Amino acid sequence: MSIKRYGKSSSALLNQKTSFFAENEKHLKNQRRIAEIYVKQPKRTNCKNCNKELGTVTDLVKDGVDYIVCDYCEHLNGIYEDTSDFCNAMYTNDSGEEYAANYQSADVDSYNYRTSSIYLPKANFLYTSLQSNKLKPNNLEYLDFGAGSGYFVAALKKAGLQNVNGTEVSEHQVNFGNAMIGENVLRTHNIEDTNKTIRESTAQVISMIGVLEHVQKPREVLEEIKKNDHIKYLYISVPTFSLSVYLEQLSPDVFHRQLHGGHTHLYTEKSLQHLSKEFGFEIMAEWWFGADAVDLFRHVAVTLEKTNASTKLQNKWKKDFIPIIDAVQIEIDKKHYSSEVHMLFKKI
Ligand SMILES: [Zn+2]
Repeated sequence: MSIKRYGKSSSALLNQKTSFFAENEKHLKNQRRIAEIYVKQPKRTNCKNCNKELGTVTDLVKDGVDYIVCDYCEHLNGIYEDTSDFCNAMYTNDSGEEYAANYQSADVDSYNYRTSSIYLPKANFLYTSLQSNKLKPNNLEYLDFGAGSGYFVAALKKAGLQNVNGTEVSEHQVNFGNAMIGENVLRTHNIEDTNKTIRESTAQVISMIGVLEHVQKPREVLEEIKKNDHIKYLYISVPTFSLSVYLEQLSPDVFHRQLHGGHTHLYTEKSLQHLSKEFGFEIMAEWWFGADAVDLFRHVAVTLEKTNASTKLQNKWKKDFIPIIDAVQIEIDKKHYSSEVHMLFKKI
C-alpha cells in the first residue's frame, strides 16, 4: 500500500520567500519578459506528459500565453515548445541573477538553515518511505539529478545516507555547493548529456527535486530511467495545476509563482498516474503540500500595498491570516489540490 502524507508548516516558506513580497515588480517584469520569449517559440502540438495530440480549444490565457488541459491525461500545457533558445534565455538571465544573489547572501550558516528547514523534510520522507518498504536506505546509492547548489544532496547526507552524489549543469552552483558541503559530492554535466547522464548512472535511487518540469524532454528522461537496470526508484517533486493557478488569474499584477516562466506545463494527479503507468512505475509514496495559502496571503498583501491601503490594514491582514495559513492549506493538500507533490516511484 502506498504511503500518503499531507501538509507542511509554511513558516520556513514565509521566511525564505520574502523577496516575492518585497520585490514584486522585479519578479513581475521578469515573468513578462519570459512570456514574451515563450510566445515566439514554435507551437507545442502534443502533450508534454503523455504525448497525445493536444486539443485546439484554449482553456486559459495569461501574459499572452494560451494554455490547454490535455483531454487524455489532464496535464496543463502551455501551447509553445520550450526550445533550447527559450531555456537559454530563461536560465542564463533569470537564474543567473538569482544564483548571484544566493551566492552573495549565503554563508555556511544560511546554507545549512535552508538545507534543514526546506530540504531535510524531503530527504526524511524519502528515507522513511524506503524503510517502510523494507529497504535499508543506507545500502542504496543515490543520484540527485539537477542538484542545483546541492541542498537536497546535503539533506540526504544529513539524514545519514553516505552514497550520495549530485549532478548539475551550472558549474557555478556545483562549485558553490561543494564548498558549502565541504566535499566534492556535486559534479557538472553538459545539458546535451542529460539522457546520457541518466543512462550511465549506477545509482538505485534517482531524485529530481523541482527538475522534471524543467527538462526539455521529460519523456526521454523517463525512458532512460526505465531502461537503466541499476535504477529502481525515482523520487520527484513537481509543481501542479493547483488553486494557485486560479489565484494568479485574479491578480495579473502580482508575481505568479506557479504558472509562469520555466513552468510551461503543470502536473495533475491524473497526469502523474498516467506517467507512472506508461513508464512502468508504481507509486510507493506521495506527499502533497503546497504554497497556495501562502500565495493567497501574498496576493492580498501585495494588492493592499499597491492600492495604498493603510499600514494599519496591511498589518491587520498579516495578523489575521498568517496564523491560519497552515489550516487553510491542509484542506487543499488532503484533496490532492496543492501546488506541489513529492512522489516516490518504484519500477515494476
Ligand atoms: Zn496528456
